[in-house]
Amino acid sequence: MTILLGCIADDFTGGTDLAGMLVKHGMRTVQMIGVPTGPVPDDIDAIVIALKSRTNPVEEAQAESLAALEWLQAQGCRQFYFKYCSTFDSTPRGNIGPVAEALMAALGSDFTIACPAFPANQRTIYKGHLFVGDALLSDSGMRNHPLTPMTDANLVRVLQRQVAGKVGLVEFGTVAAGAGAIRERFAALRKDGCNFAIVDALTNDDLLALGEACADMPLVTAGSGVALGLPPNFRRAGLLPDYANEEAGAATLPATGGLRAVVAGSCSVATQAQVAAMNSQHPAFNVDPRALARGEDVVGAALDWAKPKLAAGPVLVYATSTPEEVRAVQAELGVEAAGVLVENALAAIAQGLVAAGVGQLIVAGGETSGAVVKALGVSGLRIGPEIDPGVPWTVALTADRSGDRSARPIALALKSGNFGTTDFFLKAWERLQ
Ligand code: ADP
Repeated sequence: MTILLGCIADDFTGGTDLAGMLVKHGMRTVQMIGVPTGPVPDDIDAIVIALKSRTNPVEEAQAESLAALEWLQAQGCRQFYFKYCSTFDSTPRGNIGPVAEALMAALGSDFTIACPAFPANQRTIYKGHLFVGDALLSDSGMRNHPLTPMTDANLVRVLQRQVAGKVGLVEFGTVAAGAGAIRERFAALRKDGCNFAIVDALTNDDLLALGEACADMPLVTAGSGVALGLPPNFRRAGLLPDYANEEAGAATLPATGGLRAVVAGSCSVATQAQVAAMNSQHPAFNVDPRALARGEDVVGAALDWAKPKLAAGPVLVYATSTPEEVRAVQAELGVEAAGVLVENALAAIAQGLVAAGVGQLIVAGGETSGAVVKALGVSGLRIGPEIDPGVPWTVALTADRSGDRSARPIALALKSGNFGTTDFFLKAWERLQ
């Protein structure tokens, strides 16, 4: 088996975003949490290794990315993709530029693109300037980001500050003229001594043309948008099946039976509404952070409560609370302590639910998902059909399931706080077979 596309994502949810994009466009994809240490499925077309390298020290980010690349190279991947945020989240020191240069050096490649455009999510690039909706990046909320404030929308300038090589631009007029014109411009930039091309893109058609122009590029660096233009290359080369319905063809998950549960640790606005909607139709158990702080066996109580109810349909266990209540708890227990206390409890509850026969589990909250995935020993996710934008059903891969009595596939939907419609917890099950 040869994996066609090997991807390195600089954070977890960004990895899921890219993996979902690839599945939607007909590539069977798994997302691994960190560099895999065990076997991976052999019936896949693309693999995304999710790192946490967006904001750690440059040298560390480079080393982790190179380790991921080495692993991907050993799988025989034909092309490599470095995925970062569609708002180009980085500081003057990196990590986008330095990681890209380290990967290029390892691949012996002297030219790549840098294109965070994602028109479907209102990220467009015009004359090298990144727009978020109607605003320049530097006028968007990103200018106040706590870790990676983006105060310059000119990506040529932003990337040039991060790299030793030279950065050029492929302007909109060239992109609109199609893949041939883009390739010619690449050649001219290279002749000019450029190592990077920021590429303008306003529409999905631009991304398709750009993808076609990148067919022979060893390394592509981009947001998840450009990924929609790559599967057609593999299809044209006869390497990827031509499904009538691309998503259905690539998003097939192994059947997962089992009972259903939702564990919610997000307090985001969307999750609050989703919890209220589920609460009105299904049994729900509230995890009280104060009881946890008093040392009460809340995990045991939640599991004793849930077990007899599971057979009758999905149950909800939630810590989700109003902003006022969260602030009050945080004032009493400390922000971080409260967070960790609740995350650990929800992770232990998720573990207990799976042991009790839950095979289809929705988790709400980014940090909460991280804790649950760790507790369940998940090493990767096979990406399935999308429930709502950015949230697919997945099936958990575990590093070693041998000797595990519950060695049955577990379907997981990991929902970041503000994603999904109000009826998300009610409708999501329909997307599973
Ligand atoms: P989101 O994706 O919405 O940001 P996260 O799971 O990443 O959700 O973050 C929510 C954080 O709030 C977690 O650390 C969780 O443990 C914590 N939390 C959840 N419920 C409460 C609560 N009732 N009081 C205090 N903290 C809470």
